[in-house]
Amino acid sequence: MKRVAIIGGGILGLAIGYKLTSKKNKYKVEILEKENKLGKHQSGNNSGVLHCGLYYEPGSLKAKLAVEGIREMVQFSQNYGVSHDICGKIVVATNNYEEKFLQNLANRGKKNGLKGLKFLSKKELSLREPNVIATKALLVPEEGIIDYNHVVNELSKRINSRDGEIVLACEVLSSKKLNDNQVTLITNKFEKNYDLVISCSGLYSDRVFSKLIHKKSPLQIIPFRGEYMHVKKEYMDIVNHLVYPVPDPKFPFLGIHFTRLINGGREVGPNAVLALKREGYSNKDFSLNDTIEILKYKGLRNFILKNFGFTINEFVSSFSTKAFIKKAKKLIPSSERFMFEKGGTSGVRAQAISKNGELLMDFKIVREDNQIHILNAPSPGATASLSIAKYIISKYITN
Ligand SMILES: Cc1cc2nc3c(=O)[nH]c(=O)nc-3n(C[C@H](O)[C@H](O)[C@H](O)COP(=O)(O)OP(=O)(O)OC[C@H]3O[C@@H](n4cnc5c(N)ncnc54)[C@H](O)[C@@H]3O)c2cc1C
Repeated sequence: MKRVAIIGGGILGLAIGYKLTSKKNKYKVEILEKENKLGKHQSGNNSGVLHCGLYYEPGSLKAKLAVEGIREMVQFSQNYGVSHDICGKIVVATNNYEEKFLQNLANRGKKNGLKGLKFLSKKELSLREPNVIATKALLVPEEGIIDYNHVVNELSKRINSRDGEIVLACEVLSSKKLNDNQVTLITNKFEKNYDLVISCSGLYSDRVFSKLIHKKSPLQIIPFRGEYMHVKKEYMDIVNHLVYPVPDPKFPFLGIHFTRLINGGREVGPNAVLALKREGYSNKDFSLNDTIEILKYKGLRNFILKNFGFTINEFVSSFSTKAFIKKAKKLIPSSERFMFEKGGTSGVRAQAISKNGELLMDFKIVREDNQIHILNAPSPGATASLSIAKYIISKYITN
């Protein structure tokens, strides 16, 4: 049996482990996770939305894997009793300028094979979302919500019951090449030889690449924190579905939106704040090391120069509740501060950025000898996790 180490116990590492261990007696899989719990970072702190491929450039890996991924994720959830709800999403334009982009999104969605896309009349919109004010609104009926922590648990149960093992509190520190076919991983717990190493290390994907391949990563990860606010129980009926703005096509972020949660609650968020710590979940979190590293990177300086207004605006929305609510008001003008409470989740996105300051939109996976590194897996990485796993196995492992 081939010995495989998967670095990272987020949804991607687990999806790959789940798929590999389904091939009986072929792979002995170990998931090495530095935390003492699975899904502690991006996979357990996201919007919990099942994206079906509306936004993504037709022909891109993201478009292909999101469309396939949502179908596979829904099937998985039905098989293993994971709570999910295909409640549909409405994307809302609020002026002529946004209407053009909304039309482009609808065209993209059609090209990506989405079904049932429909512009809603004023009456149809007010029946579904009486508090939303829009000049144009697009219904995306295939999208929904899901409990990704439950997905993580179900994946890990299957891995443990097959030829797989999950090792928690196990940080991978570096590697040595043993021979042409094997690599030795050095962790805080042990040193071990493997035939194949797959890194799914999210916010640390670039650092893990450098430590294991012993050269500079082609991309750098910049952490962008996304903060949410809860809608208070008594105001939950201000929104029924998922309600999203038209996103700025320059960014991979979708803009502050209203989300119906799988537990019945409602959230609004996330913003996209440049974080000064890779795993910094609050605006008080700061790491000198991480801050120096990102500020030294030419790509980030170029990004800030090109997008100064965006960077400042998102920072302000982190410190000023008024500025945060202003973004929510764009979708639902009757939103008022007293309807929301702090204490919503927050997540940090691992976003790869190139030297010239472009945020990489698509998934990025590289193979070097017997190592595979997922360098960029932004949203909809959770929705598409099972199809990303299938893609990696067929392209890099079994062909
Ligand atoms: C705010 C936010 C909202 C989002 N909304 C959605 C959404 O609604 N729908 C959607 O589909 N996607 C969404 N995403 C994206 C989605 O969450 C990610 O694409 C997905 O979770 C990536 O999974 P992962 O396993 O690569 O990363 P992670 O879940 O971050 O897992 C990486 C793991 O690697 C571990 N690790 C790192 N370094 C080491 C090391 N040296 N040794 C051992 N372990 C290590 C970490 O501890 C971590 O557990 C969102 C993301 C964020 C942050």
